[in-house]
Amino acid sequence: MKPWKLISLILLSMLTLTITFTTSCADQNILRNIILIGWDGAQRNHVLESYLRAELPILTALISEGSFQEIDILEVTDTKAGWAQILTGYAAEITGVYSNRQYQPIPEEYTVFEKLEEFFGPDDFVTAAIIGKGANVGADPPLRQPHEEGDRVQGEIIIEDGVEYQLIPGKPFYNAKSVMDVFINGLGEDEVVGLMTLDLLEHYQDSPFFFFVHFEEVDKNGHKYGENSKQYNDALISADTWTGKIIQKLKELGLYDQTLIYITADHGFDEGKKSHKDAPYVFLATNDPLVLDSGERADIAPTILERFGFDLDEIMPPLDGKPLTKQHQTVLWQGSRDEDSLLKV
Ligand SMILES: [Zn+2]
Repeated sequence: MKPWKLISLILLSMLTLTITFTTSCADQNILRNIILIGWDGAQRNHVLESYLRAELPILTALISEGSFQEIDILEVTDTKAGWAQILTGYAAEITGVYSNRQYQPIPEEYTVFEKLEEFFGPDDFVTAAIIGKGANVGADPPLRQPHEEGDRVQGEIIIEDGVEYQLIPGKPFYNAKSVMDVFINGLGEDEVVGLMTLDLLEHYQDSPFFFFVHFEEVDKNGHKYGENSKQYNDALISADTWTGKIIQKLKELGLYDQTLIYITADHGFDEGKKSHKDAPYVFLATNDPLVLDSGERADIAPTILERFGFDLDEIMPPLDGKPLTKQHQTVLWQGSRDEDSLLKV
C-alpha cells in the first residue's frame, strides 16, 4: 500500500471514529429531560373527538413527531390511585394507594422522582411536581386529629384517655416530596400551574430534569358539567393550550430537542356523566418516536425510567408495568380495541 493511501485510510478511520463518537454523544444529549403532563380526567374518546375536530393543535403536533397510544386502566379509576400508579409503575398492592379513600404514603424510593434523584445524584438532576389538585395528589404528613361525632371519617379512629382521635394517613407523595427539588400542589387553575411551570423551566434550564405538570380543569369541569359538556371540552382545549406554552418555552430555551413530552390521564370519565367510577380508557400522547405500543397505567413509569437509561431488571421491587418502547401482549379490558375506539378512524 502506498503511504498516501495508508494515510488516507487512517484519516478516514479517524473521521469515522469522530462521527461515531459525536453521534453517540448527540444521542445522549437528546435524552436530557422528560416532562410528564397530566390532563386529569381526560377521557380517551373525548380527546380523540376533539382531536378530530382539530381543537387540539398542540396534541396533534406532538403526536406527529411521536404517537398516540391507548392506555387502559386495570385498577381503580380515581385520582389518588391514578397518579400513584403512573408515577411509580407499581400496583396498588405495592404502593398501598388503592383509591382516594384507601391510601397511605407511597413507600420510600418507589416513585419515579426518588429513583431519578438516586440514579443521577440529587445535585445533578432536578425533579419537580407542579400540581393543580390538592389532597388527592398531595404530600401532607400523617395527622392525628380529635374526632367529634358527625366529623367526616378520614382514617382509623382511636380512643386515648377517653378522647376520640382519628389517624389520617400521610398523602401519597409524603415520602417523595422530601427528596424532590420542587413539590407544589393545590395550585388550582391551569393558568396558575402553567405560569409556575414556565418560571421553573426558566429557573432550572441548566440542569437535566423530570417535571410532572398536572392540570385539573378537565376533571373539575367533568364533575360539575358532565363529560359531554362544552365546559369539559373547553378544559381539554385549555390543557392543550398550556401544554403548548410549555413546549414554546422549551423551544425558546433551546431545550425542546432534548426533551420528551408525555401527556396522560389518571382516569377517563363515565360516558356522558359527572363521575368516573368505571372510566378505564385513557391515552399516552408523546413526541417520543420510540414509544410504539399501547398498554396500561403502570407502563408509563417504566417507559420514563428506561428512556432515562435505567436497567429495569435491576429495579426492586420489580415494576408491574413494562416500557412501551417494546411490543407486549398486554391483557387489557375487553372491548378496548373494538368499535368503541375512535382511534381507528
Ligand atoms: Zn375526579
